[in-house]
Amino acid sequence: MIDTTRFIPTHRPFFEIHRRYWEKTLAHRRFKHRHLVPLIEKLRGNARFEVSKLGLSTQKRTIYLVKLGTGKTKVMLWSQMHGDEPTATMAMMDMFNFFGGHDELDALRQEILDNLTLYFVPMLNPDGAEAYTRRTALGVDLNREALSLQAPEARLLKELRDQLNPDFGFNLHDQSTHYSAGRSANPATISFLAPAYNHAKEVNEVRGNAMKLIVTLNRVLQTYIPGQVAKYSDSHEPRGFGDNIQKAGTSVVLVESGGYPDDPEKQYIRQLNFTLLLSALQTIVRKTYSEENIDAYYQIPENDRSLFDLIIRQVQVPLGGEVRTMDIGFNHNEVNFRQADGFYYRSAIEDLGDLSVYFAYHELDASGMQLVPGKTYPSVIANVQELRKLDFNRLFRQGYTAVRMARYAPKERVTYLPIRILTGQKSRDNEVALSANPDFLLQINRQTRYAIINGFVYDVVNNKNGVKNGLVE
Ligand SMILES: [Zn+2]
Repeated sequence: MIDTTRFIPTHRPFFEIHRRYWEKTLAHRRFKHRHLVPLIEKLRGNARFEVSKLGLSTQKRTIYLVKLGTGKTKVMLWSQMHGDEPTATMAMMDMFNFFGGHDELDALRQEILDNLTLYFVPMLNPDGAEAYTRRTALGVDLNREALSLQAPEARLLKELRDQLNPDFGFNLHDQSTHYSAGRSANPATISFLAPAYNHAKEVNEVRGNAMKLIVTLNRVLQTYIPGQVAKYSDSHEPRGFGDNIQKAGTSVVLVESGGYPDDPEKQYIRQLNFTLLLSALQTIVRKTYSEENIDAYYQIPENDRSLFDLIIRQVQVPLGGEVRTMDIGFNHNEVNFRQADGFYYRSAIEDLGDLSVYFAYHELDASGMQLVPGKTYPSVIANVQELRKLDFNRLFRQGYTAVRMARYAPKERVTYLPIRILTGQKSRDNEVALSANPDFLLQINRQTRYAIINGFVYDVVNNKNGVKNGLVE
């Protein structure tokens, strides 16, 4: 009988000390390369770090290599090969602060630095980060470039791996917040994968060690996010980096940061990244992963796309001349704005019909309620001052969900008032349909109970505004 408690690294101190080392200049996901440069350059002043320039991105931004530690075992960590997947980059900066410091965890820190040599490549795709898009400035997906190597960023990663031949590799990504851990209401807050090196998904020692390490890390994370850890699809992608690096002899762990309720900027998930990566390093130092059972890897639930942002349950919808009872699932999709320094939400009906097998971050039971398409307020609003004076709750009670502002032309098509603004001669039919974004009222006996504006819920009876933003059209 194996005592499983011995495999658990000392994760709690890492989790708790994170607050002290949280890099406060990075407080949201759309930070840029220019925000990272000073954080990395300043590491040159600390003898523990060796900072070098790995090379240049397509648009000539410097991609850095940060080396730490003097140990025999080599670990390589790279983040943000997809420009809009920055959570682990934030955690890396926090780790640099941690490794550069002195505190009550000196012994744990020193144990890692004496036994491992760490190679960090933060933000492998800085051009994608600039525009907050997945792809590189060439328009290619870097994680499909491991064979063709046409993107300069891909060549840098491949050459570094081949030169170092590290024992372990961490391929750090973000995934959709709509993934759940198995078919459940639990978001897949963190998903892991030990990528397959062939289509048969065979397991050799290299991949087996990655699987065993994941078993330990899953156990750590269950303390913080019980039931919210999943496994990414393990089908072999011949063009993927994880797959090829595993094949080349480095045990690769893919980490995908997903969703967590009320954490749109993923700051809690960042703390989990910090905790799990330090725990992983300690586990590698102590080699305790080797005693784990691979069966436990297969028992981690798979990612399932069964989460919506909002499901309105059992609402009566007038469709095709009849009233039909159905569920409506909305997702709140992010739209970059202000040179991708920020975003607003543009929601869309992701599915409608019988959604009883799906789940949502927010569910609204609308049984007994009628869906009534929103109307446009009859008088034209002259300016923003007049707009601000409107009593939106009263408008919703009267059946209005949009106002017309004939001469309003803001640069960004967004309002933080709970209303839709129609400019010029634009009109809306608010049709309930797949991919559409209708505004409507939910009524009981012709009394408005809720208004749905841009896929968000305004509770009219309790006057609670849950609308993150409205849209200008
Ligand atoms: Zn990715």
